[in-house]
Amino acid sequence: MRVGIIGLGIMGAPMARNLLRAGHPLTVHTRTRARAAGLLADGAAWADSPAALAAAVDAVVTMLPDTPAVEAVMAGPDGVLAGARAELLAIDMSTIDPAAARALAERAAETGVALLDAPVSGGEQGAIAGTLSIMVGGAAAAFDRAGPLFAALGKRVTYMGGPGQGQMTKLVNQVVGAGTLAAVAEGVLLAAGAGLDPAAVVEAVGGGAAASWMLAEQAPRMQRRDFAPGFMVRLQQKDLRLALASAERLGVPLPLTAVVQLLFTAVEARGGGELGTQAILTALEALAKRSG
Ligand code: NAD
Repeated sequence: MRVGIIGLGIMGAPMARNLLRAGHPLTVHTRTRARAAGLLADGAAWADSPAALAAAVDAVVTMLPDTPAVEAVMAGPDGVLAGARAELLAIDMSTIDPAAARALAERAAETGVALLDAPVSGGEQGAIAGTLSIMVGGAAAAFDRAGPLFAALGKRVTYMGGPGQGQMTKLVNQVVGAGTLAAVAEGVLLAAGAGLDPAAVVEAVGGGAAASWMLAEQAPRMQRRDFAPGFMVRLQQKDLRLALASAERLGVPLPLTAVVQLLFTAVEARGGGELGTQAILTALEALAKRSG
């Protein structure tokens, strides 16, 4: 399958590499061409716009920051739909508003393009290793066509239903993940306050019922004060806002998520929007009682 990918950030760049490695002829486009240099050197082709890219491939993957970026790249004047021929398969793997994903899928269908929403979980490491969990909404026939691409990018691929249901599932993922991350940060602070050996705490707690990806991956970063992203606080905030808005519409209470969202707001207020989400630790530290 000739594949194009748009958005070569923390996630998109390693995903592009895995598509290339799996043998798919690859065309790329991103806002800053310099980010594509490595992929171009390894045989990928460059397209000057999303429309030009769409015209050159059988399937387009987008991995962009947020809803406005996906709307612009898909449906803008020089967007994917403007360049697409009928039968193009489009797969948005960014995390965006489920309602916007549904609207875009309808708009794409009018031009004969099948659009799947297929957001992912597993972080930068999962993108590099090709072990992402992929949650997919859209037409079942399009899901089947996308199989070989998903196989190159992830290890668990779950069909969740019609358009928007992949994004809805990702919001569930974000509620569970962000709450777990906040609990891990509290545990790290408690362990430090008690003078426990940091590595031994992760080892001991990680062997029992409190084991999690967040504990294994993020506690060590918090302990060595490595706040590089990973997953940026500002993108996490976008996801929690979407989760809280969907919950309100559905009449579902998310009190823990509301608190976690406020803690991230405190990180942002101190200039930490571009830090990794493990920087939630610093918001808790700011609440700590100072002795002496
Ligand atoms: P990022 O900011 O590193 O990458 C986004 C890329 O899109 C950048 O390279 C940017 O230049 C490009 N871009 C933005 N607007 C564009 C436009 N109009 N045209 C072309 N390119 C454009 O973000 P990321 O961490 O790679 O995340 C991408 C998506 O994946 C987000 O929706 C995020 O929520 C989601 N996600 C991220 C992670 C993670 O751990 N980083 C994990 C799962 C899901």
